[in-house]
Amino acid sequence: MIEKNKNRQPIKQLSETVSNRIAAGEVVERPAAVIKELIENSLDAESKRIEVNVSDGGKSCIIVRDDGWGVPESEIHLALSRHATSKIDGSDLINIKTLGFRGEALPSIGAVSRLVIKSKIKESPMGYKMEVSGGNLGKVTPLAFNNGTSVEIRDLFFSTPARLKFLRSARSEILAIIDVFKRLAMANPQVDFVLTDISNPDKQRVIFKCAKTDVSETISPNNSFITNGNYFSDRITQLLGKEFIENALPINFTDDVYRLSGFASLPTFSRGTAVQQFFFVNGRAVKDKNLLMALRASYSDFIMRGRYPMAVLFLDCEPNLVDVNVHPAKSEVRFQVFSKVRDLIIRAIRNAIAESSIRSSSSITSEIISAFESKSIGSVTDLKNDAKERLNPTQIDFKELENFKGSFTESLEGNNWISGRVDQLEESIVAHPLGAARAQIHENYIISQTMKGMIIVDQHAAHERLVYEKLKASHRNVTLSSQSLLIPEIVDLGLEAATIILRFAVEFDKLGLSVEPFGNGVICLRGTPAILGEVNGNHLLRDLADELMDIDDAMVFDSRIEKVLSCMACHGSIRAGRIMQAAEMNALLRDIENTPFSGQCNHGRPTFIELKLSDIEKLFGRS
Ligand code: ADP
Ligand code: MG
Repeated sequence: MIEKNKNRQPIKQLSETVSNRIAAGEVVERPAAVIKELIENSLDAESKRIEVNVSDGGKSCIIVRDDGWGVPESEIHLALSRHATSKIDGSDLINIKTLGFRGEALPSIGAVSRLVIKSKIKESPMGYKMEVSGGNLGKVTPLAFNNGTSVEIRDLFFSTPARLKFLRSARSEILAIIDVFKRLAMANPQVDFVLTDISNPDKQRVIFKCAKTDVSETISPNNSFITNGNYFSDRITQLLGKEFIENALPINFTDDVYRLSGFASLPTFSRGTAVQQFFFVNGRAVKDKNLLMALRASYSDFIMRGRYPMAVLFLDCEPNLVDVNVHPAKSEVRFQVFSKVRDLIIRAIRNAIAESSIRSSSSITSEIISAFESKSIGSVTDLKNDAKERLNPTQIDFKELENFKGSFTESLEGNNWISGRVDQLEESIVAHPLGAARAQIHENYIISQTMKGMIIVDQHAAHERLVYEKLKASHRNVTLSSQSLLIPEIVDLGLEAATIILRFAVEFDKLGLSVEPFGNGVICLRGTPAILGEVNGNHLLRDLADELMDIDDAMVFDSRIEKVLSCMACHGSIRAGRIMQAAEMNALLRDIENTPFSGQCNHGRPTFIELKLSDIEKLFGRS
């Protein structure tokens, strides 16, 4: 007789309650996910107002109340049963236009909590309610209720203690809730949203309250997902504050199949983390890695490593071009041809940045003003003492004073720095966006006068960007000319750095940089790109090697070249510390105006800042 394997059990069908609890692990892993599902149901029911109450970060209580269609008495049981949905009939899983369609959320949530659903449809005089506890459905009973639905959840995960243990502090759960709430409210400006913390019943705290904006004309009734980012600006301001919109570029870009709209921050207005990046695909809030990477690539050329742009972007296309059914919470999507989407995003954002070159972040100006203001708070006596100290006659070096006087009169004669008076010849120069150069201070900052105020240019940063853009432009069209060194430079880089440099020898050659192996980690440098002028070959090669070692192999070829060019530009730039004549300074200003992307250097720092006359007047208490 064959002995039976003691460990094997016969196959059994799991009960619905158990399979719901298992499914709940995927759909609702934390309170924020519950809230996302409930708000999405309210949105699918065409609600105009959605109120969310939470206590203890949603751990003890979540209530979502809406004024949507409601659920009829006869269907309340079904709404809480697995794989039951009113949104699709199963014949078409491609053209999905609702946020939900899997029929899993309510039964999953009901399986792991104590849930009460109350609902009334407008055709019925009565509302109805049903309780569910750990997956056991109660009876449907009548109740007086206004049109719409409320779902109340208490004791989330009480029936799955393992999951309960994974919940974080109320504080971090509420942060996750706020994130979800923000995303959903942002995509739906046609709906009133309120989020209230009811942890303390005596002191309820409204976290967000967003009044709806009338966007009825911009959303066509048959395809509620065709949206236009620019109509979202009020809602975005309500949720993210006005600083973002003031420092953002409007994006509006269409190709034959996709449309990208919304706002992306100026490169000079960046953040330390990527949390302020919001993507919506056909109206659905998604956290898609590929989309975020495309956003990052769009800015790679303009922003420092470790800094992130802020963005709210809406991508719309025919529903059949994107699969939303690849993730239980539907927060990831899959595109038929992602490379097209990626190209579109990069093109859209780079175009917007190019068009905005002559705009610098207003937040920078406000920072400057507050820096000035905090200085002036110091008492007047402080200032006087300060001045006295400096004027102490024993400390004055008369020789220095003579020199000072000399250079001062010289600069007076050379231009109208003191009066700022604009004679006719100069009028046309001042009319340029970056105005007429008036002075150079600390051998690196150009002060120029514009029609509306003044500009301070960081000459090194600006020049670096200009050289970089020139390098890029000429690299695209032709091989760059090389300036041969009379005596080749022998540079000992070490084995690792030398290997990586030699690996790129062919590309470098096209850029006018000619390198040859000299054996044992040593390189022979024969020529450098003419456009850079005189450079320190040793430093250039070392920096290039650092840059290249930092590049991961997956990076596309063009981005590698950009890195190389950016590094070269840094070496060929007017370093701080070069004295320039007025004509040279003005030429630099005109160059900045005519060069795309010149509002920031290759590392995302601004190349110039603007102080409006009104800002200056504010500083002196004149307005
Ligand atoms: P799905 O949203 O995928 O259809 P759910 O489990 O979230 O699945 O909801 C089941 C059904 O209950 C929905 O299809 C819908 O008909 C109904 N329903 C849920 N919430 C609401 C609501 N707030 N207003 C109206 N109907 C709702
Ligand atoms: Mg749903």
